[in-house]
Amino acid sequence: MNMSPPTIGFVSLGCPKNLVDSERILTELRTQGYQVVPSYDNADLVIVNTCGFIDSAVQESLEAIGEALNENGKVIVTGCLGAKEDQIRTVHPKVLEISGPHSYEAVLSHVNKYAPKPEYNPFTSLVPSQGVKLTPKHYAYLKISEGCNHRCTFCIIPSLRGDMVSRPIGNVLDEAKRLADSGVKELLVIAQDTSAYGIDIKNRTNFWNGTPLKTDIQTLCEQLANLGIWVRLHYMYPYPSVDNLIPLMADGKILPYLDVPLQHASPAVLKSMKRPGTIERTLERIHKWREICPDITLRSTFIVGYPGETEQDFELLLDFLSQAQLDRVGCFPYSPIEGAEANKLADQIPEAIKQERFDRFMQLQQKISTQKLQAKIGKTLAVIIDEVDEEGAIGRSMADAPEIDGVVYLNEENQVKVGDIVQVNIEHSDEYDLWGTVKR
Ligand code: SF4
Repeated sequence: MNMSPPTIGFVSLGCPKNLVDSERILTELRTQGYQVVPSYDNADLVIVNTCGFIDSAVQESLEAIGEALNENGKVIVTGCLGAKEDQIRTVHPKVLEISGPHSYEAVLSHVNKYAPKPEYNPFTSLVPSQGVKLTPKHYAYLKISEGCNHRCTFCIIPSLRGDMVSRPIGNVLDEAKRLADSGVKELLVIAQDTSAYGIDIKNRTNFWNGTPLKTDIQTLCEQLANLGIWVRLHYMYPYPSVDNLIPLMADGKILPYLDVPLQHASPAVLKSMKRPGTIERTLERIHKWREICPDITLRSTFIVGYPGETEQDFELLLDFLSQAQLDRVGCFPYSPIEGAEANKLADQIPEAIKQERFDRFMQLQQKISTQKLQAKIGKTLAVIIDEVDEEGAIGRSMADAPEIDGVVYLNEENQVKVGDIVQVNIEHSDEYDLWGTVKR
């Protein structure tokens, strides 16, 4: 009997949604007895889980495949770029197998084909009950649905990942409970359109621990609130139903944080992007949310220089930013994505104008962010610790999601541990980050 398990090299690229797919593949590999190794040279096979969203991500994915082929030679590819098999084969004809996003079964069968499953599995007892996690131990992404029913013209996600398919609520809650039991302190709820959770299955009732539960985002949040850990919502469309979540935030049941990608404020641009809703209604909604939950942190992302965006459209966007006073904002100059409908639109904006609008946008938002953070000086905030070293610790307040928002620096602090949630007196701020001292 061959006792040494086959070894697999693995690289995961792209967004948190792809990271969750990688976690699932790695969990299955470990369950089947494969050993996942950190380098390519002594692996029996390498899996590259790719991103194909924007051109730079396609480039990065193709380079990662090239690197794996050079260093190992036996490479299988999965993930978003996998949906464009021809593009991969043109550059890298020697790739063994290609599958698209969330094709867990195909990936496993490709692995089994080129590196047969071990007869003896020494790792069965070593697979954590919450699955393999690629995030630090104290936070985890909870993906509640796959795919998307929208057809935004700048996006190719629906063609890569298909229409929305929601996970049964009982299944999501099982995973959340396992994560909380394993020591996770913060859950980041994600999907392509999180607020639409359950719509594809007509909010079907599903049982969890014998209790009938409706599959919708409100019921899910109410149940997640019972876990007693931080619950943060990402990628929420501002549907009217989102209003029902704000009291849960005001009551401290889920984090007072809402990530709502708005993309633009001009009606003409939003229409051209095929984004639903009007900005007046969004503004009304924002004011209402702040009345119910004054501490709410609102995060959004925007695209500037979209085809056909006039100076007047752009000024509408700046007006909206001034009025909405969002706490955290990401901005991207429009960049065409291969296969996106927006590429066919007339009036593509010259790069210099895109850059100029991006700079003006960021200048305004920096001022807003600086003022918002200044207002936190003198307050005491709960902070979750992400890193500790000899110089001190770095954490995040409830207003900061990992990777995308600011941080709280705790200089010369060495008594805290990663994953601790501590009370911090805020003493200093700049455009994006805070500094403070642990309250003792
Ligand atoms: S909501 Fe729009 S941008 Fe987001 S994944 Fe769906 S189609 Fe793409």
